[in-house]
Amino acid sequence: MGKYRGQMIRNTLLLSISLLLGSCGANPPAPTDIAPVDLAALSAAERDSYLREATAFFEKANIVGSPSLVECTLSGGAKTTCFSITVKPVPGDYTPGPWCPRNISDGKEKSGIWLDEGKIYDADGKFLQNLSDFYEDDEWQLFDPATGRVNVTDSKEKCAAAARPDVDEKYNNYCVECQLDYMPAESSVTYVIPVRPVASSNRSRTHGGAGVAINGIRLDEPAPLDAILDAHTLAPFDDCGGHVNLHVGYHYHAVTDCLVDKSGRTSGKYDAPVIGLAMDGYKILAHRLDNGELPGQLDSCQGHSSAEYGYHYHAGAAGSNRILACLSGQQGCSFESSGETCDASVRRGPPGGGGPPPGATRPPPEPG
Ligand SMILES: [Zn+2]
Ligand SMILES: [Zn+2]
Repeated sequence: MGKYRGQMIRNTLLLSISLLLGSCGANPPAPTDIAPVDLAALSAAERDSYLREATAFFEKANIVGSPSLVECTLSGGAKTTCFSITVKPVPGDYTPGPWCPRNISDGKEKSGIWLDEGKIYDADGKFLQNLSDFYEDDEWQLFDPATGRVNVTDSKEKCAAAARPDVDEKYNNYCVECQLDYMPAESSVTYVIPVRPVASSNRSRTHGGAGVAINGIRLDEPAPLDAILDAHTLAPFDDCGGHVNLHVGYHYHAVTDCLVDKSGRTSGKYDAPVIGLAMDGYKILAHRLDNGELPGQLDSCQGHSSAEYGYHYHAGAAGSNRILACLSGQQGCSFESSGETCDASVRRGPPGGGGPPPGATRPPPEPG
């Protein structure tokens, strides 16, 4: 969509401007280097402490087996110690969905959300009915005008054909959703993340996911809205900002209040609630502070330092379709199969995830 390309150009300009500002010293400094951790040199007590820290952090996740400490090579070549945690890509704390309405008469309680130019819309029947006006494009027709019935990818086969950037033409003008039970029951994702972040010589864009939420769900790349809209499809997110693809299961493209637990927090005492861990080991906090305000000056990776957390990120606004823009530290790996060794410096694609190098055509797993 022309509208989107324009937006991308504007975003690129903004990014360039902020990078320029960064080089003039207007941005907070990047995190200072933290020495790699030598696994062989750790005492039993230190190992135990790292493992307990990781397990406690992900206490809301559906953890498979027990987290372990492993040697790993990060994206910048640093050899250090990572924890390896395997999770089911299903949240333990709520049931995902709904995504697509079944009829244009369905209200927002029967559907999820859609993101456009920083705003969140209920992807309800009315929204689907008005897509030609919304996108100023007469080719939108997601429903049967006679009955109001919405075209939904309501089988595993249809979801596999439509939930990818090169949408099968048969499913143009479909509302695309995949159900969690299309995934094999034994599906899991393994994250290998440094126990202590190691600074990177250059800020690298995220690939293969920005990180993992406290409930074990992937905090993913931006959804490829251009490809989705070009095929006249929508791939709505549920109200928690997540949807399912057949490769990584349920994953987030937006951080919403679902991940923000304010219980027991006192406004002003803290920065913002922690919602996840980035692939470089730095914590990701909610978009807004406890007092509802936006955090002060953030660097180009949406990071800054505070007394409580040291260097950390703040997730992008829920409507932005961008949880993190880049990472300041060296990234670990994520795998959709177990038993792999993390060497994020070798594969230039999504760390450990396989697929083409950054900048090449997007890999197929992404349904948006
Ligand atoms: Zn902060
Ligand atoms: Zn997605």
